[in-house]
Amino acid sequence: MNKIGVLTSGGDAPGMNAAIRAVCRTSLHHGAECYGIMRGYQGLIENEVKQLDTTAVANILQRGGTILKTARSKAFFDKEGRAQAAKNLKEQGIDSLVVIGGDGSFKGAQKLFKEHNIKVIGVPGTIDNDILGTDLTIGYDTALNTAVSAIDKIRETAEAHDRIFIVEVMGRDAGYLALNSGISCGAQHIFIPELQENIESFVNEVTDDRKRKKQTNLIIVAEGDEFGGAQKLNEYLIEQIPNIQSRVTILGHIQRGGSPSATDRILASRMGYSAVNSLLDGISGHMIGIQGGEIKVLPFDQMKDRKKENPLDLSEMAMIISK
Ligand code: ATP
Repeated sequence: MNKIGVLTSGGDAPGMNAAIRAVCRTSLHHGAECYGIMRGYQGLIENEVKQLDTTAVANILQRGGTILKTARSKAFFDKEGRAQAAKNLKEQGIDSLVVIGGDGSFKGAQKLFKEHNIKVIGVPGTIDNDILGTDLTIGYDTALNTAVSAIDKIRETAEAHDRIFIVEVMGRDAGYLALNSGISCGAQHIFIPELQENIESFVNEVTDDRKRKKQTNLIIVAEGDEFGGAQKLNEYLIEQIPNIQSRVTILGHIQRGGSPSATDRILASRMGYSAVNSLLDGISGHMIGIQGGEIKVLPFDQMKDRKKENPLDLSEMAMIISK
C-alpha cells in the first residue's frame, strides 16, 4: 500500500485547498492512503500528521487559505531538522510527499529527496507567480483579481479628488502582480523589482502631468522594489514636488485571502491530480508546471541558479498605453 503525504509550505495562496483535495482523492482512487502534514515542514519535524479520508477534503475546494495550515520552518534549513522529518515519515511508512508551495519549499523538498531518498513532487502554490517552468502558479490569478478590484476602487476616489495614489502590492522578488495589476488598472507608473527605474525622469513626468492637469496618477509599486515600497516612494515625491497631493495604500494580506478564482481551482485540481499520478509512476524530484495550457512534469534541477523572468516588454507596453 502506497502512503502519500501532502503539505503546504511558505506563504498561503488561494487554491491550495483545491490542490490538497485533488491529491487526497487521486491517491484514494488509486488505492493509496493519503496523509496531511500540518504547518508545512515544521509539522513534519514535529510529526503532526493525520490520515485524510475523502470527507476530510469535502467542501474545501472553494475556500482560501489551507486546511493543513502553512509555516516557514527555520529548523528545516538544518540537516538535523530534515533528518528528523525524514525519520518521522519513514516510521509511518509514508514513502512519498507532495509539497505545495513556492521555490523555497521546492528547495527544501529537493534536499529531502537527495539526502533521504523521500520521493517528492512539487506543486507550485504562490501568489508571486515566480516559479520557473510554469506559466502560472496556484493563487496568482485570484490575488491578481483581488488587487485589480481593490485598485479600481482606489482609482475612483483618486479621480474624485485629483490626487496621486501610490498602491503597494505584494511581491518581494517578483513583479508579476505589480506589472499585471498595473496593466489591468491603467497605472501610469509601475515599479517592479526586476527593473531599475530612472527616478528623476519619473519625478519629471509626474510634474508634467500635474502641469497639464492630468486627472489621476495611479502608481503601482511592488513591495520588493529597490526604492523600498510605496511609503518611501511617497516620501521622496513629497520632497521633490511641493504641494503634491498624494496618498499611499498598501494592499497587504488582502491579496492572499478570499475564495480562489475558477482558474485557480482548475489549475490546482489539475496539478494535484498530476502530482499523485507522477509519484505513482515512480517519478520524483520533479515539479508540476503548466505551459501553454498543458501540464508538464519538470525536474527541480531545471530551476538551479535560474530565475523566472518577468516579461519586461509588457512593462514598456504598459507605459506607452497609459499615457
Ligand atoms: P512564497 O513564494 O509564498 O514565499 P516559498 O515556498 O518560497 O513560498 P519560503 O519561505 O522561501 O517560501 O520557504 C518555505 C520553507 O521551505 C522555509 O521556511 C524552509 O522551511 C523551507 N526552505 C526554503 N529554502 C530552503 C533551503 N534552501 N533548504 C531547506 N529548506 C528550505
